[in-house]
Amino acid sequence: REKKTAKSKEGASYDIALLDTENGVVTRFPPEPSGYLHIGHAKAALLNDYFAHEKYKGTLLLRFDDTNPSKEKEEFQDAIIEDLALMGIKPDRTSYSSDYFDDLYKYCIQMIKDGNAYADDTDQATMRDERMKGIASKCRDRTVDENLAVFEEMKKGSELGIKSCIRAKISVDNPNKALRDPVIYRCNPVPHHRLGSKWNIYPTYDFCCPVLDSIENVTHALRTNEYRDRNPQYQWILEALKLRRVHIWDFARMNFIRTLLSKRKLTKFVEQGVVWGWDDPRFPTIRGIRRRGMTVGALREFILKQGPSRNIVNLDWTLIWATNKKYIDPIAPRYTAVLKENAVTATVKGAPAKAYTEDRPRHAKNAELGTKKVAYSGTILIDLEDAKTFKEGEEITLMAWGNAIVRKFSTSASPIGNIVTNLELELHLQGDVKKTEKKITWLSPEGQTLVPVELVDFDHLITKDKIEEDDNVEDFLNPKTEFRSDAWADENVADLKLGDIIQFERKGYFRLDRPFTKGVPAVFFSIPTGKTGK
Ligand code: ATP
Ligand code: MG
Ligand code: MG
Repeated sequence: REKKTAKSKEGASYDIALLDTENGVVTRFPPEPSGYLHIGHAKAALLNDYFAHEKYKGTLLLRFDDTNPSKEKEEFQDAIIEDLALMGIKPDRTSYSSDYFDDLYKYCIQMIKDGNAYADDTDQATMRDERMKGIASKCRDRTVDENLAVFEEMKKGSELGIKSCIRAKISVDNPNKALRDPVIYRCNPVPHHRLGSKWNIYPTYDFCCPVLDSIENVTHALRTNEYRDRNPQYQWILEALKLRRVHIWDFARMNFIRTLLSKRKLTKFVEQGVVWGWDDPRFPTIRGIRRRGMTVGALREFILKQGPSRNIVNLDWTLIWATNKKYIDPIAPRYTAVLKENAVTATVKGAPAKAYTEDRPRHAKNAELGTKKVAYSGTILIDLEDAKTFKEGEEITLMAWGNAIVRKFSTSASPIGNIVTNLELELHLQGDVKKTEKKITWLSPEGQTLVPVELVDFDHLITKDKIEEDDNVEDFLNPKTEFRSDAWADENVADLKLGDIIQFERKGYFRLDRPFTKGVPAVFFSIPTGKTGK
């Protein structure tokens, strides 16, 4: 057995080689096109990609598990393809479970003929109850011909067919309930998004997955370990059909605190208008976190460092955003913004009478980012929060300009606390910027056209760290998750493009969600840096 220690680009290294891998590793990512990919799916997709493409020179399959037409749509399918590409994942082959409906149908007939499956019209509640108690269904001993006849009715979508399903005849009372005659085919006369009304019957995931893994030559099926109880069932089906065995590797689901990672629940949020859509920046979808400012590099590094461990974890968001900061800090150009509300206008003695501009680096440590224009004049805007702290006679630093001494300073009480009513600074450019305690961002309204911007911060959508299966999500909806403030930004910001990631100095990192157009403020979303875990 080969021992490789190849590391991923991100420095991860682990192994799944419990099978002989000489004939090449084949992994697969099998999303159901019933929603957009979320960060949990990203883990599954990236791990499969890692084993197929980095650890071994193998093959990665993308298989759309489109076996439930009631939930699936082309829109989701297209979005999944795009999101995988965005993450740098290139499947070697794409297939659809629905490509195999003819084969699966024949395999089901074979199961019936071999006495390995039977048709059952027991109602759902009774079936559940019998399964719990380990009682055989009244249909369990039907003859092959009876079973085939009912399967035919199911195929037609007839009245009898609709009431029936096909179950694998494994066990009535095995302690592992996943082995108690699982359903393998259902009747559901709903048009399929690819095949229209061709079929009225659809295989279940439990049946479809082992069969297709086997016939698509998958060597290693990576599955989240909530499926572990179903592994014997998976292997039983392959054995019953005399199909090639597949090695199953379980890994832990990835969960985050105060975050829902279930397409069903996310779909509800979209439908109820709790969020703006699947790409809402508060959503844990790939699109959502991208829109919030997550980079692909950070996402890959974070997930691949987690590796395929089997411990179920409830991560907080701190570490992944801290990882992201490492990626964006060296490449985020710096600009300046001053909050409109209560912005303080200061006069600057010693400034030239006429406003002027100078070219300054966009990033002190990254010359590649080029320069921007900084405007200077005898009047500047300062954030109230900064101005409030000044004392007469104090020497401060105006960033990208130099030192100044506070000459006049007065405040008055207001409903929001003290506001600064009069502020006069005098330039003291020979002063040592290293010696001042306060380095202040500021903007000159003269010599440039300030750009109106909206800065938006977000909080988690839910208030409980870990939502349990029987919790009512509505009880834990965070009533306020969006925080907007208006600000002025320097003129350079008018040229930024959708998706640009920048830093407003001393305010944080932001991603441009709506570029500036005349009269309409630019909208920036604040990018978490892991300090608060938001
Ligand atoms: P959801 O509950 O969000 O609908 P799912 O498992 O039903 O997830 P699929 O489209 O069937 O959605 O998932 C595709 C793959 O992603 C599966 O292999 C699944 O195990 C994996 N996956 C889903 N959620 C997570 C998660 N939170 N962590 C890791 N892998 C996940
Ligand atoms: Mg699923
Ligand atoms: Mg699920």
